[in-house]
Amino acid sequence: MDSDAPKVEIIFFPFVGGGHLIPMIDLARLFASHGVKATIITIPNDAAVFHKSIHRDQQSGRDINLHTLQLPPGEEFNTIASVDMSASPFTDTSILREPLKQLLVDRRPDCIVTDTFHRWVPDVVDDLGIPRIIFNGNCCFSRCCEDSIKRYEPHEKVGSDSEPFVLPGLPDRIELTRSQLPIFVRTRTEFPGKAMRAEQNSYGQVVNSFYELEPAYVEYYRKEMGKKAWLIGPVSLCNRNVEDKAERGQKSTIDEHSCLKWLDSKKPNSVLYVSFGSLARLKPIQLLEIAHGLEASNHSFIWVVGKILESAEKDEPKENCLPNGFEERMMKSKKGLVIKGWAPQLLILEHAAVGGFMTHCGWNSTLEGVCAGKPMVTWPLSAEQFYNEKLVTDVLKTGVRVGSEEWASWNMERKTVVGREKVEAAVERLMGGGEATEMRRRAKELAEKAKRAIEEGGSSYNDAAALIEELKSRRSLAKDYLLEFYNAHSKTAVQF
Ligand code: UDP
Repeated sequence: MDSDAPKVEIIFFPFVGGGHLIPMIDLARLFASHGVKATIITIPNDAAVFHKSIHRDQQSGRDINLHTLQLPPGEEFNTIASVDMSASPFTDTSILREPLKQLLVDRRPDCIVTDTFHRWVPDVVDDLGIPRIIFNGNCCFSRCCEDSIKRYEPHEKVGSDSEPFVLPGLPDRIELTRSQLPIFVRTRTEFPGKAMRAEQNSYGQVVNSFYELEPAYVEYYRKEMGKKAWLIGPVSLCNRNVEDKAERGQKSTIDEHSCLKWLDSKKPNSVLYVSFGSLARLKPIQLLEIAHGLEASNHSFIWVVGKILESAEKDEPKENCLPNGFEERMMKSKKGLVIKGWAPQLLILEHAAVGGFMTHCGWNSTLEGVCAGKPMVTWPLSAEQFYNEKLVTDVLKTGVRVGSEEWASWNMERKTVVGREKVEAAVERLMGGGEATEMRRRAKELAEKAKRAIEEGGSSYNDAAALIEELKSRRSLAKDYLLEFYNAHSKTAVQF
């Protein structure tokens, strides 16, 4: 390929909703930093905040743009408007079919990176001969767990939902219970079926992870499962300045300066950061138990109280889920900072005063915790989070379990509640000395490896560069295909 050849152009098509949208934006910014022309598709009414980061990238000379898809006349957008970053994975985005097709025909990019939840995209893209790369937001480890369960069905061979079983075939001994498996795995429903098929026929996948984090599982994923995967993360590390880190996805409910000032007043490794991501809803009684557990522990905390699940039990309080006077007491004693809404997570996590992260094990949060070098209290709730927990506690050995046993969909009520004693005990284990010191050492080591992975010559840097090279080298092939396609579909012959 000669140096005057046009830049490789990649179109990124993120899904609405925090855990999928945020890393895709970072992914596009990361590829732009590799010299790619990156276009991010957005939707009208998108509530997400990232325009300023894109603008800053443009000013520093990167070729990155947003493109808002316009809906066909008369179509409504309310169904998929991302008003609070919590779109369900079931959200149907197929209203965007025609506008997407038009964009691809006009632009003929070298490739489209599309979120796995846009299940209809293969129908549009594959006919056009444009390589379709999937982004599903997970790591290799969790995909290997899924594969083992699907192949060997170990959960069918136990007598109860709480009896542990080992996942056969994996590089480490990983144990789970049936109650920790997604409901669609337990009941063999079709939910992920279409997304899986879309993945099987794709050109490959980009994975927000890095080789050194999970080498045995990357090998398993590529060799045993036969996946063509480029590991290009951690993508959050493309946020290098305070502004970019402060403004991911949504505007924070707290001003980042006061938050950082609060942390500045604390000793190194003395504060626990508690967050359950963008989607999870906890019921009031669970929030109450967390509050009591945190108050009883000997450690300071920042707690992002997210969305509240309306309980089916009518007599449960909804308005004031926290104990009487809790917030005031915490503020006055400077023991705890309660954030209701959205927090500048990256800035908080990387602060030296933060010594641990209580997380729901969403993959982005988990990886952001790894990048910040923080050990974790793992509290998985839904999606593939119970697998991620095992990666942290059993493979990386940088975390302790709070004792969450029950998988439930993000908007469903759990039968069980994790009690205050368990919360307190897990916080003490993580934030104390002894085993915590060793976990912290390992966490710091991983953080160093994460940073090295995305620097020039690092494993993720090289994978991104290899994908770009591959797209360049298949250009002449793509040109022949397109020529054939357009000539077959148009009355006038086309020449490139
Ligand atoms: N996040 C944030 N502030 C918050 C809550 C979440 O910046 O108050 C970001 C977090 O840094 C992560 C994403 O939202 O990048 C959540 O993704 P994750 O995969 O952890 O969980 P999900 O929201 O998909 O359950």
